[in-house]
Amino acid sequence: MSENLWKKALELFAGGVNSPVRAAVKPYPFYVEKSEGAFLYTIDGQRLIDYVLGYGPLILGHAHPYVKKKIIEQIEKGWLYGTPSKKEIELAEKIRSHIPSAEKIRFVNSGTEATMLAIRLARGYTKREKILKFDGNYHGAHDYALINAGSAVSEFNVIISSGIPTSIINTVIVCKYNDLDCVEKHLRTEEIAGVIVEPVMGNMGVILPEQDFLNGLRELTKTYNSVLIFDEVITGFRLGLSGAQGYFKVIPDLTTLGKIIGGGLPIGAVTGKKEIMSNLTPEGKVFNAGTFNANPLTMAAGIATIEVLETTNAYDIANKASKEIAEELDNSLSKKNFKYTINRIQSMFQFFIGISKVTNADDARLANKDLYVKIHEKLLKLGVFIPPSQFETIFTSSSHSDEIVNLTIEAIHKVVSEI
Ligand code: PMP
Repeated sequence: MSENLWKKALELFAGGVNSPVRAAVKPYPFYVEKSEGAFLYTIDGQRLIDYVLGYGPLILGHAHPYVKKKIIEQIEKGWLYGTPSKKEIELAEKIRSHIPSAEKIRFVNSGTEATMLAIRLARGYTKREKILKFDGNYHGAHDYALINAGSAVSEFNVIISSGIPTSIINTVIVCKYNDLDCVEKHLRTEEIAGVIVEPVMGNMGVILPEQDFLNGLRELTKTYNSVLIFDEVITGFRLGLSGAQGYFKVIPDLTTLGKIIGGGLPIGAVTGKKEIMSNLTPEGKVFNAGTFNANPLTMAAGIATIEVLETTNAYDIANKASKEIAEELDNSLSKKNFKYTINRIQSMFQFFIGISKVTNADDARLANKDLYVKIHEKLLKLGVFIPPSQFETIFTSSSHSDEIVNLTIEAIHKVVSEI
């Protein structure tokens, strides 16, 4: 059945899909009939334990009953007003109460829009043009971010997307992740509007900041009057309610959010210092607008998701699942005669085979991607869905109960013993 849909999809969509990584599931992607808790149910009748979780937003698992109830309540009241609603105030207040850098907020509709706007804000505020980013960091699918980006960009061997003008490429400087010397060199010698970074890299697999990297970025950007932007589209409300900035206690000037704050509906947000945020239209001259910005349906799903995170032990369950699975995977892999490493933080992790330490994108590129894909394929046959790409993150949720974790561990032991 998925096979038939795929044949039609290949006629309808470039590469058969509407977002490239989805085509990485071979020989063709499975089509989903419904999802609930930790499970995806395919139209071919397979039940899969899901560790992709919509690529990050579903920290409570699929179709969480409370989030569902709140979405339905909002649907009864209409879903697009074209004028402000109380829900945007509620979600903004929640975000501001948890995210240390959040003073003012602008809601948009995707992480892509959020980082595009944060970069424009940094440029408008500093009156400078250049942006510094890191090799392998992915900040969405716009021109300023598709230079040495991670995620599907890397998976499909696109170093710099075709279609981006050279004049734009020349405004983006790329340093290696965890390389403060490179950052200092450029900040010292060039006028740089802003430094954008994933405080934990989730788009080359998981790569952690080395001690003092984020602190170093904070100090250097302060010294050279450059705007520090944390792209917390993945880490925001995943590493905890206060995101990576709370976890590492480093406060950026601007933060981009997405994924979890929309509870699984499309969202993005830019938040940060009043002094910078006030440059946005209609208060200032940095333009942003959106038909769907702060739409009440997404706001309702986001508020409900954060409420559950605030009032239950959701983080504990998700983190425990990730820890146990990563530990058992480590156990299994340690019996093999190859090098490997597992990078984990809270409810996100990834493993790399063939290399014993991964601290930047170059290291990640050395991992045995073919073996990763083989493990992904074998797990899928046993009903466990991890990302089809080495360069994505394995996520856990509060719906990954002990029983589900144990089923997963069993599958992992079997698969690793066979490779
Ligand atoms: N920033 C980061 C760190 C991301 O991981 C992503 C998407 N995976 C984005 C930005 C772009 O978000 P979206 O796909 O919602 O446009």
